[in-house]
Amino acid sequence: AALPAGTQAPPPTPHVFSDPAEIGALRRNLLAWYDRCKRDLPWRTLAATETDADRRAYAVWVSEIMLQQTQVATVIDYYNRWMQKWPTLQALAQASLEEVNELWAGLGYYSRGKRLQEAAKKVVSELAGRMPRTAEDLQKLLPGVGRYTAGAIASISYGQATGVVDGNVIRVLCRLRCIGADSSSPAVIDQLWDMANALVDRSRPGDFNQALMELGATVCVPKAPLCRECPVKQHCRAQRRKLFGKPTPVPDVEDCGVGGCPLCPPAMEPWDSSLGVTNFPRKAAKKQPRVARTATCVLERRGCHGAPEYLIVQRPSSGLLAGLWEFPSLPLDQDLQEEKQREALADHLRAWTGWPVVAGGLRFVGEVVHIFSHIHQTYVVYSLPLDGDVTLDPALTPSRWVTEEEFHASAVSTAMKKV
Ligand code: SF4
Repeated sequence: AALPAGTQAPPPTPHVFSDPAEIGALRRNLLAWYDRCKRDLPWRTLAATETDADRRAYAVWVSEIMLQQTQVATVIDYYNRWMQKWPTLQALAQASLEEVNELWAGLGYYSRGKRLQEAAKKVVSELAGRMPRTAEDLQKLLPGVGRYTAGAIASISYGQATGVVDGNVIRVLCRLRCIGADSSSPAVIDQLWDMANALVDRSRPGDFNQALMELGATVCVPKAPLCRECPVKQHCRAQRRKLFGKPTPVPDVEDCGVGGCPLCPPAMEPWDSSLGVTNFPRKAAKKQPRVARTATCVLERRGCHGAPEYLIVQRPSSGLLAGLWEFPSLPLDQDLQEEKQREALADHLRAWTGWPVVAGGLRFVGEVVHIFSHIHQTYVVYSLPLDGDVTLDPALTPSRWVTEEEFHASAVSTAMKKV
């Protein structure tokens, strides 16, 4: 019979968890494994021991923002320093953006720190310092808090029975239920959120969500998953298919028995038995990063005690690497000849410092490549020793001379440290 207008057909059963007994068993197996094997992490300790709900939510929130796009091992040290410096929302709300950038330097995706601090200010000034108490309100009221972060904070800090979907969860769920359609498509993402909400353990939602993510991070890893050690292998359809699937795939086979299934691998790219469980998840091809070149000049002078000092300038307060400090830099046109790029940089430095900088005085040092999320950036590095002082017009751009030690303690990006 036709479905009423506006309702969607339920997904074919091989792609969902429909048996309550199986859901119960999966929860128990996953939680028992988590209790045995979970990594000891500072934010977990805080979430388990902090009795004040606002402080607990803040501690989880900071960890979740830092962990977006950054590995656990890198985050730990930053997290500890952050929580020591700003143990509460109120403390963070009083910090300056410069201090936030300095502590964040090296973690990447700098707007995360800035947004976190802006949101803390909002909680203090508009919500009387009280964190919203549900995933829905967290997402609605806090800038920079999306569906995932809201679900993580609410389940881990308040015990709200709400699921989460991040990259690790996507991988695990797509494998558990043989979902081979493009895992970044809205249809698949919606399906995974429904599944995460249905699966989450009602009495230990925070632990369950962390367990699912931990499984993706340590066992059900992208390239060589450790299926033999997996606590939920008996619930995994990808694993079953690997063990009992057809040795040679029949092209255009109707994987789940439903023709044109929106969750199966596309008919043109059927199950590949050489890939095993890593047939899942599948993603549409990524966009190629943009290629960019930037000329950078390390201006050096003798400081008052004879130690070299370097000039750094501050980037604009919006856009890529907003507000961070860097060596004076100039974006270059693609395919500019070496001689031309040197002249362009000399012109730029001359106009800016008022010094008679000539192209021949710039010493080529080398090239540094740095990959931002969407930009393949090459810095063409020059150096220029100076005999006297250079004072830049502060109205033009903030600048300062720093020793090497001060440079490393400043809010500079990883790319500039490489330079
Ligand atoms: Fe992942 Fe293998 Fe476990 Fe399936 S059995 S969830 S593929 S680790």
